[in-house]
Amino acid sequence: MNTFAKLDAWLGNKTSRPTGQRGTRVRRIEGGIAVQYHNTDVVTHYADGTIVLNTDKYNTPTTRSRINQYQSVIHTFSHKGLMRWSHGGGYNAEARLFTDGLTIKADGTVCGYVDNEAELQAERKKVRVFADQFAKAWSEGNVGAVSNGDCFFCLMCDVATGKPMPGGDHLMSHIEESYFVPSLLRNAMMEVPTSAAHKSAVFSTMAGQPNSWCAMRDGWVKDTAKVLRRYITRQAGLGEAR
Ligand SMILES: [Zn+2]
Repeated sequence: MNTFAKLDAWLGNKTSRPTGQRGTRVRRIEGGIAVQYHNTDVVTHYADGTIVLNTDKYNTPTTRSRINQYQSVIHTFSHKGLMRWSHGGGYNAEARLFTDGLTIKADGTVCGYVDNEAELQAERKKVRVFADQFAKAWSEGNVGAVSNGDCFFCLMCDVATGKPMPGGDHLMSHIEESYFVPSLLRNAMMEVPTSAAHKSAVFSTMAGQPNSWCAMRDGWVKDTAKVLRRYITRQAGLGEAR
């Protein structure tokens, strides 16, 4: 009995049912049954035995845990900030990068993922350099307040959560153009946990009133670069950054 059949039996005549785990439910979708964690279908089982895995770019312990619980073919884990998978369960010679859309066929074949570590590390380095330059520009008063002149995708972000509109992949174009978008910094400050004092320093400087934080300038610049690095790395689908 495959997992699809088990989930199908468990659902019975229901279209959706909570699993009892935080933020998690099983629901019927066209042609299959999905395990949904928050807003993401992390594991989708199809009647023919195909399994599709997805994180919506969230390489978090709980996301990986749900993926590992609701299929038994591969095991996912994080190593050096990147989500990976292997059959055995940990980092070994067989381990590969995980990317969204990874597909396990009924015969156990794994496909549909990108495994180019060198390319990914080069992209991550670009983000680090950009975040450092962006933070320096901010500390010198060269990143102004959020305005309608900002990039459309960054400006139209959900302000409460920092989640970008569909089109978040455009962040790499800002890096190519060294475009320090005020909205991008705002979004990062909303999404990545940081201190209230740091937030206050960032927003007052953007508003042209930097005096209150001068004494801690070096620390704030480093913290601002870190927030930008972590936000962009995640939103661009490049894993997690420290
Ligand atoms: Zn943008």
